[in-house]
Formats: sequence, C-alpha cells, structure tokens
Amino acid sequence: MKKSYCKYCNSASASKIHYQYHKNEYGINPIKDKLFFEALILEINQTGLSWDLVLKKRNHIKLAFENYNLNKISNYNKKNIDCLLSNNKIIRNKKKIIATIYNSKIFIEIIKDNGSFKNWMDKNKSKSLDQWIQLFKKKFKFTGPSVTKEFLVATGYIAGAHDLNCIYYKL
Ligand SMILES: [Zn+2]
Repeated sequence: MKKSYCKYCNSASASKIHYQYHKNEYGINPIKDKLFFEALILEINQTGLSWDLVLKKRNHIKLAFENYNLNKISNYNKKNIDCLLSNNKIIRNKKKIIATIYNSKIFIEIIKDNGSFKNWMDKNKSKSLDQWIQLFKKKFKFTGPSVTKEFLVATGYIAGAHDLNCIYYKL
C-alpha cells in the first residue's frame, strides 16, 4: 500500500469501505484465526489488481468461501473449484483459489500445533522481514515477498501501515 493511503482514507473523499478498513483494521493485530486467514487471502487476491477492487469484492469472497470455514475449504474438490471459477462476483483466478485451499490446510495444522494462528504469529514476531518472507515461502502458497510484507503490515506484525502524521499511527 502506498503511503498516501492514510491521506486518502482520512479525507472527505474516502469511500466508506476504505475509511472503515483503514480506521478499524489496517495495522491492527487480528485475534481470530479466520481474520488472519481472510487478511492473507485478500492480499493474495490483490496480486496484480487494486486494493479497491479487493475491498469491493471482499464480502462476496467471504461468502464464496463459506465465511472462511477452514475445515470446509480444506476439503474442496474439483467441483468446488469449478463453482468458484464460475462465480463472477469474486476474483476468478485458479492459482489464487488453489492457493486458498492449500493455505487453509496449513492454517489448520498451525492452529492445531499452536492453539491459535495468533499464537504462532506472536511466536515469530521478533523475525526480520527477510526471515518472515522465508518462513511464508516455506509454509504457504502464493506468498511471495510482496504478499507476505503486505500481510504483515496489514496485521500489524511489521511497522509501516500508517504515515507518521496519520491519526491512527501508533508507536
Ligand atoms: Zn493511516
């Protein structure tokens, strides 16, 4: 996300979805497993596209993936994938859909081993950005350096979400 995102979101011309995302979520640690999963899936979906498009489609994506029910997603088969690929309300990209299914299985493993996804993130929070990138490359699919970095910024695990003069900037 560009630095001017704060300026736009704090301005009168900001759309409601950006205003609310920036105020209530951007740069804040989620607690629930599902919210971490959604944050990762949204960043993956954004690759090659605009954040504006992703936020506009956000609720449709959530609905299509059954409110991010990890057990259900992890069992998706070809029929489910075809169904998702025919849903024009979401971002229809087979690689992104396959990565979502794969990543749901990894989330389940991590939650099983650590009690929650947040526990695992907190365990790794002293890592440098390069170390996080290596970890995400090893663990997940479709998590290149920029997806990983945006995910970490968005979820507040690395600094840089808000401009220094943004009212939501925290030390
Ligand atoms: Zn801001």
